[in-house]
Amino acid sequence: MPLCAALLVTVVSSGARAETKQEVDLLIGGEFVVTIDDTRPVIRDGAVAVKDGRIVAVGTAAEIAAAYRAPLTLPGEQRVLLPGLVNGHTHAAMVLFRGLADDLALSEWLTNFIFPAEGMFVDAEFVRTGTQLACWEMMRGGTTTFVDMYFHPDVVAEVVEACGLRAIIASAAIDFPSPGFQGWEDSFAAAVAFVQRWKGRHPRITPAIGPHAPYTVAPEHLVQAVAAARQYDVPISIHVAETRTEVDDVSTRYGRRPVQHLDALGFLEPRIIAAHVVWPDAAEIAILAQRQVGVIHNPTSNLKLASGVSPVPQLLAAGVKVGLGTDGAASNNNLDMWQEINLAALIHKAVALDPTTLPAATVLRMATLGGAEAIGLGAHIGAITVGRQADLIQVRLNRPHLIPLYDVISHLVYAARADDVTTVVVDGKVVMRNGDVLTLDLRTIQAKARRLAREIAAALRPAPSPTR
Ligand SMILES: [Zn+2]
Repeated sequence: MPLCAALLVTVVSSGARAETKQEVDLLIGGEFVVTIDDTRPVIRDGAVAVKDGRIVAVGTAAEIAAAYRAPLTLPGEQRVLLPGLVNGHTHAAMVLFRGLADDLALSEWLTNFIFPAEGMFVDAEFVRTGTQLACWEMMRGGTTTFVDMYFHPDVVAEVVEACGLRAIIASAAIDFPSPGFQGWEDSFAAAVAFVQRWKGRHPRITPAIGPHAPYTVAPEHLVQAVAAARQYDVPISIHVAETRTEVDDVSTRYGRRPVQHLDALGFLEPRIIAAHVVWPDAAEIAILAQRQVGVIHNPTSNLKLASGVSPVPQLLAAGVKVGLGTDGAASNNNLDMWQEINLAALIHKAVALDPTTLPAATVLRMATLGGAEAIGLGAHIGAITVGRQADLIQVRLNRPHLIPLYDVISHLVYAARADDVTTVVVDGKVVMRNGDVLTLDLRTIQAKARRLAREIAAALRPAPSPTR
């Protein structure tokens, strides 16, 4: 056979082979693919094919490479691929109050520092800058979905839409004056109007209603809030049973503990995202399970404000859906979900005096699929399975604190850190690559945040320290 004929055969056969491959948008790999799917929990040398924002195939890298081709391939060498983290409770813009006042009781912290600072400074520009900074921090650490509760929710939604993260955004409503509002009537009306504007408007954004807590919102207003949430079919984000003081207050005022009080009002149902839940008694844990309420555990905030330790092992044993959250950065003081994962895996062991309590895999599930279930997105995100939205992160393994590796789940829970995250994909779009955030103007955000912080520091007296 002449040489040119042999070449022709080669070209034709490779062309034919290429055409049998399905064209997708993105191929992304992992030396370990941690799926959070019980049928195939960890795939060695795995890969995922993504098309139109969804996961279309999961398998070994060889299987995926044989069947799919894409304009962009992110290789998996020295990487773990796992679902993006779900931060089930935060107040994103409060990053601008990070470190403003520490080492205080919740009531003093709120009344003397946070509420006055919010009254003076929280406007649309504050929320824009704060939420941009928060989204940068969350994206850098591999959080792909967060549940926000704050003011100026349209601004939060605009920032989320632009930066590419996924969010449930609850417009805060409370019975006393808050930034821009006199009390319940106007803050609740604004929350409903926000839901009307954003329901069904953007696939990554779910609007929600955020009645602050059972001790700051009257019973009839809680009933109004849940009626509106049912009417528009949106979630509710609320703080519940955060402190013993709250339990005492609610019990004194209404004759029932907070969870019982909410249940008596007909408030509890699967659309409720209850943050903290530090002080439920056994009967209340049973109610939370029966009503399928989502609970968000915020270990750092609960430790820092000395609120207590939520009975998470008992909640899980009762069948309650439990996710993890950072709470706002003013009571954390960061939005690092790896810290929450690590603390959740540690503190319950010490409380129970039992090192088998909340094993690593249980906690990793809480940070991903468990959180997704708790916030009502369990069918769409939180695991690497075909048909789910492609919210994926890669974590670098070639770091000193991750060498050697015997058990990848152990490393993710007990050794990994936020800055080990190297790639973030949300809805199939790469928003961070090689540690570089691609969708936010970081220089401008820093400058704006520093300028606002100078104004805040000048206006408020320094936080008193108990040691001074
Ligand atoms: Zn909170």
